[in-house]
Amino acid sequence: MNPAETHNQNNSHNPFLTLNYEPALESLGNDYYDEVVAAEFPQHILRWRNDAVLPCLGLDTQKVTNEDFITAFGKFQGRKPLLALRYHGYQFGEYNSRLGDGRGFLYGQVRATDGELYDFGTKGSGTTPYSRGGDGMLTLKGGVREVLAAEALHYLGVRTSRCLTMIETGLALWRGDEPSPTRSSVMVRMSSSHIRFGTFERLHFFRRPDLSKKLLDHVIEHYYRHLLGEKDKYALFYAELVKRIAELVAQWMAVGFCHAVLNTDNMSITGESFDYGPYAFIPTYDPYFTAAYFDYYRRYCYSHQPSICKLNLELLQEPLKAIIDPGDLAAGLASFNKYYQVKYRSLMLKKLGFEELCYSEADELLNLTIKFLQDSQIGYHEFFYEMARTFSPKWRDEPALVMSTSDIVPASGTSPIFDDWCVLYHKILNYFDLEHLDVISQTLTNQNPQTALLRPVIESVWEPIFQEDNWQPFDELIKKIQSGS
Ligand code: AMP
Ligand code: MG
Repeated sequence: MNPAETHNQNNSHNPFLTLNYEPALESLGNDYYDEVVAAEFPQHILRWRNDAVLPCLGLDTQKVTNEDFITAFGKFQGRKPLLALRYHGYQFGEYNSRLGDGRGFLYGQVRATDGELYDFGTKGSGTTPYSRGGDGMLTLKGGVREVLAAEALHYLGVRTSRCLTMIETGLALWRGDEPSPTRSSVMVRMSSSHIRFGTFERLHFFRRPDLSKKLLDHVIEHYYRHLLGEKDKYALFYAELVKRIAELVAQWMAVGFCHAVLNTDNMSITGESFDYGPYAFIPTYDPYFTAAYFDYYRRYCYSHQPSICKLNLELLQEPLKAIIDPGDLAAGLASFNKYYQVKYRSLMLKKLGFEELCYSEADELLNLTIKFLQDSQIGYHEFFYEMARTFSPKWRDEPALVMSTSDIVPASGTSPIFDDWCVLYHKILNYFDLEHLDVISQTLTNQNPQTALLRPVIESVWEPIFQEDNWQPFDELIKKIQSGS
């Protein structure tokens, strides 16, 4: 953290209150939200401020004080209205009409220096009409985990929401999945939008195609602006959403991320990744790796993510049918697999060091890599990091030298799959000039940081917080993530 400690007693000078707010969603009228008030907390301890995103808001990190964060996002002074958004969703395959922002609200929408509109959405800010008996709160560990996921994914190149801040709030919470009582926090998320697939599903449920159309016009105006002048902008919107989601899942798959709760209320209409609960990065390549302990049937396991996202896009066709021709919707969805495969292939080849690879061996290399990772159960992230760490021009000389200085892979002659992989990698390297090997080495390094946000790593920073309120390992981990090391 970079605490600018000067106290700013006069809230009218709080730079968070004078950003370029736009009443974008608010201007649609109150069919889409409920006005709510924030909880009052016994304590406000700033635990995380994301200085990396402040310039994008036009703010000078040195001039924003910790107190500015606390008064804006812990005490919620000076901003109204706060809007709990209405939505429904398919949760684990079942339609749930009792959803909506149950522990958060839309704090405001800000036009940033990049010209884009961003939502500030809270998590853990108190009850709303959609809390369904819940306490409206977020555990401190839940806040820590979402901050880490968003930063890790962002620096791995995944299109994701970020966290602006996290403040500890001094309440004792009871949770079945954490030793309780457990500490509380409020987290503010900065995302492209909090409009979900489920926002449209709710409008369909209430048979309000007029409201769906109004919302879709709003979505296109703000998040698909380049389609505004197009005659068939609605069909083009859906086709582009399919592409955005297919590419997003390809990004998750390549970086080894398992979102864990791919309900339609957690699918953003802008195709951005968000809402990080029981997520996990895969320790090894296991198609059935399942991150949420309550996902008994492995519905949202690692390898199901592409088909589940495609299914969610198909479910979204129901509400959109009032606006878009079913034939256009079907045609849009038909491109999902192609978009997914092209993106996944390109990202995986990058992880293997290649920006472009048009040789016929490319697919063979990918298949063999996955087969080796799956059969050996070697660490997924560790393997790619070891490639980057040990890469040498000597690998071009003979297959037995490929990764020969790494002790996490099988020794030459002990694993037929790995030997085949080395033969192929060696062969491909020989398609390139010697001078190009530097580029390959650089690509490997850029794509495969040493720091992987595996569960034991998260626990290793949580434990000192839990035991002795020591935030240093957490701060250091974020620094490492943000530096891409
Ligand atoms: P999530 O699993 O975080 O996507 O949440 C699913 C739904 O449950 C959303 O409508 C949340 O607002 C709601 N929810 C989750 N936790 C709580 C809580 N502690 N209190 C009230 N509502 C909650
Ligand atoms: Mg959610």
